[in-house]
Amino acid sequence: LIQLFRPLDMLGMVYRTVRQGIIDMAAMFDLIDTDVEVRDAPSAPALVVKRPTISFEDVVFGYEQDRTILKGLSFEVPAGNHVAIVGPSGAGKSTIARLLFRFYDPQSGRILIDGQDIAQVTQKSLRAQIGIVPQDSVLFNESIGYNIAYGREGATEEEVNAAAQASAILPFIERLPQGFDTEVGERGLKLSGGEKQRVAIARTLVKNPPILLLDEATSALDSRTEQDILRTLHRVSEDRTTLAIAHRLSTIADADRILVLDQGRLAESGTHAQLLRQGGLYAEMWARQQAESEAESEAAE
Ligand code: ATP
Repeated sequence: LIQLFRPLDMLGMVYRTVRQGIIDMAAMFDLIDTDVEVRDAPSAPALVVKRPTISFEDVVFGYEQDRTILKGLSFEVPAGNHVAIVGPSGAGKSTIARLLFRFYDPQSGRILIDGQDIAQVTQKSLRAQIGIVPQDSVLFNESIGYNIAYGREGATEEEVNAAAQASAILPFIERLPQGFDTEVGERGLKLSGGEKQRVAIARTLVKNPPILLLDEATSALDSRTEQDILRTLHRVSEDRTTLAIAHRLSTIADADRILVLDQGRLAESGTHAQLLRQGGLYAEMWARQQAESEAESEAAE
């Protein structure tokens, strides 16, 4: 009977948390531990990562049958590299992230991590290798400590502490009368966008994955907080294969490679300097964003 009620209970919990808007998509998938879109192949092996390379090979994908979003996309992220994906709204940037985390399977083509097709390995082993820092970091209605430790089952107090330090949220936590035991969310402390983001980064550090998926989230933050968070993310992503979805080009100018996605196709790719020289879509987007930020700073004066 308990077995029977557990999923219902879980769903109730998911429903409540979603309603409260304090849960992220990855966490939700972990919680219900079932997946309507994708299934493990029978006797699928675990993903084993020695060199965390990512390859998309001619990936075609659409959410609906008659509307293709990614139209034969190929690219590679070498182990330890930082690759940023940019492109107009609706180009398919977040879709790439969702496919890499295997919320969906491609209609054709393959996605490989360290040479292994991610559709052929267990979802659990795949997701254990990827840390997501999402656009809107959302937290459980639990203590700050719980929210950080959630990154990995069995995380120790020392690990949680070290992660909080590395993500620069420790001084803030130490100033709270109840420290790591402080409840967050509706029942407790309301965290700012930047603080939530730091808790999410700490959670990812506890997980300690070889691959990082960053969904740039800077629109909600003021520019000083944004710069601080970016510096933290930079430190955290050293030595990890990082795929960053970026909206503001200024934040990714030093990426090893920038992929410019346009209508589900790779329109351009190269370093910031190379793409500027090319004078194509990236150069155009860069010029527009520069003009916008100049206009903003003039308006602020
Ligand atoms: P943005 O910069 O605005 O976040 P994006 O490049 O990340 O855009 P995606 O979120 O990948 O774009 O979406 C690509 C296209 O897929 C869009 O046209 C969007 O409407 C569509 N799409 C996204 N999610 C779904 C979904 N769950 N069901 C159906 N269509 C979807």
